[in-house]
Amino acid sequence: MRVSRLYAPTLREVPAEAEVVSHQLMLRAGFMRKAAGGIYSYLPLALRVLKKIEAIVREEMDQAGAQELLMPIVQPAEMWQESGRWDVYGAEMFRLNDRHNRNFCLGPTHEEMVTTLIRADIRSYRQLPLNVYQIQNKFRDERRPRFGLMRGREFIMKDAYSFDRDEVALDKSYQAMYDAYTRIFTRCGLNFRPVEADSGAIGGSGSHEFMVIADSGEAEIVFCTECEYAANVEKAELAAISSVDEPMQELKSVDTPNCKTIADVCNYLNLSIEKSVKAVAYTSEKGLILCFVRGDHEVNEIKVINTCNVINLEMASEEELTKAGTVGGYMGPVGMDPEKVMIVVDSSVMNMHNFCCGANKSDSHYLNVNPGRDFTPTFVADIRLIQETDACPHCGGKISKARGIEVGQVFKLFTKYSEALKATYLDENGKEKPMVMGCYGVGVSRTMAAAIEQNNDADGIIWPAAIAPYQVLVVPVNVKDELSSQMAEEVYSNLLKAGIEAAIDDRKERPGVKFKDADLIGYPVRIVIGPKTLTEKQIEIKIRKTGEVMSLPLNDDYVKAIKELLLKL
Ligand code: ATP
Ligand code: MG
Repeated sequence: MRVSRLYAPTLREVPAEAEVVSHQLMLRAGFMRKAAGGIYSYLPLALRVLKKIEAIVREEMDQAGAQELLMPIVQPAEMWQESGRWDVYGAEMFRLNDRHNRNFCLGPTHEEMVTTLIRADIRSYRQLPLNVYQIQNKFRDERRPRFGLMRGREFIMKDAYSFDRDEVALDKSYQAMYDAYTRIFTRCGLNFRPVEADSGAIGGSGSHEFMVIADSGEAEIVFCTECEYAANVEKAELAAISSVDEPMQELKSVDTPNCKTIADVCNYLNLSIEKSVKAVAYTSEKGLILCFVRGDHEVNEIKVINTCNVINLEMASEEELTKAGTVGGYMGPVGMDPEKVMIVVDSSVMNMHNFCCGANKSDSHYLNVNPGRDFTPTFVADIRLIQETDACPHCGGKISKARGIEVGQVFKLFTKYSEALKATYLDENGKEKPMVMGCYGVGVSRTMAAAIEQNNDADGIIWPAAIAPYQVLVVPVNVKDELSSQMAEEVYSNLLKAGIEAAIDDRKERPGVKFKDADLIGYPVRIVIGPKTLTEKQIEIKIRKTGEVMSLPLNDDYVKAIKELLLKL
């Protein structure tokens, strides 16, 4: 590629709308342009990176025995109605009508489509296992599209679906995908970690997310510093904390004027926070949900969703609280009717004695509340978020937190879709059984952004060589100097002949401008050729990642040396 012809309009200024570095750099380096919120055009450099990630994904999927196909983006409502998700998917699903006023959606995912496809053609145990995948644009009308390609509305995903005869076979398919994902992200040159993920109502260890470790990540993960345990904080399961036994004391109410937060209350009453219980109120399609955790703990909304088996969870309004007979800042389980509102109590609270909590009226709290005696929960469950002070749920060791970007997820679906959509097969005995499914996604466009989030400096992007748009940039210092220009062309052509993806900056620009653009775009290796290097019969090499500069003799060996160098970047 000749940079003089390259469609990569670089910008000198940081675009105001870009909050994270990958978005800023991709706009500045001319990789992408916005069409609408969360919807982008990929310019040639970005497309090259995407194609490289896709090539790695394809190779590893094929290697793992999956077969590529391509399903429609526009999906008829009927299959979603059959699975029951048409009405529950919510605003994230982009719906549209055709000229006959029939309902369709833009595929946010393809479980319905693939299950409908497979059920018509796969009938016998002899045809299983089967794993199919596609790489395609998905559309999700995200509530908050942001961070450029990290959370787009239209984005590129690789999605795979496995069909097996039973759970033992599913375990094998799942492991094959887990291993393939590990190879994919390793080959992309990323620092990542698979973590246990929430698998919704299914529970168990049915899902893992692949997290690229980066401070800008929207996900929070915990990992044990002593064993292999790593999980999304949403998923991390906690044993109930036990408290020292003490005799029950008489329930009494106390005035707590203007004590809105649990810290205010404890201060005012001179109480340790471990002796208090705080409340968080949500509304859902099943009505009001009041959650109670110890004062110093936080509610894990995902666990609440799973415990109450609800789809929508939003903060409750003051109006709804009044209707239920309570008041914000002073909520408590005592006197609430578990038939009318869901009272969800964290397991650790059930082990507490004589604690303090809101009395469901303004400026008032109860002291000496005791589970069993003073209130009736609808559910007792582990609903709190893990904290750094908690012990590892597996080995009791010390845990640490980090932020991550979810670039992939593997998921055991079991028979959720095959039962709803009647995707069955006949076993050896002619008995009809639902296929046991798994689904596996890689965010291809998000992986590109994550690579930049993890690999950048003040000058620009630092691409891992495996996914760089071009691996080497040849820079003639001055194109007007005929000899340097000629030698640069020769080096460029030798690199191309050796199968190295090279570009040459043949623009009539000052060297400073070329070097700045080279750093911004992030070519892993830059070769400089000028009168000085030529008198020494050398080329100058600069490695983007380390800033290391070295000279190579201008003989037949430099191509080989560069090839070897690239393998290490
Ligand atoms: P998130 O929790 O980040 O919204 P998700 O868990 O809903 O993602 P999946 O259904 O697991 O996403 O989709 C598979 C992969 O697709 C994700 O691991 C992620 O890499 C990618 N992905 C999902 N949503 C987006 C998006 N809005 N923009 C870019 N990539 C996305
Ligand atoms: Mg996911």
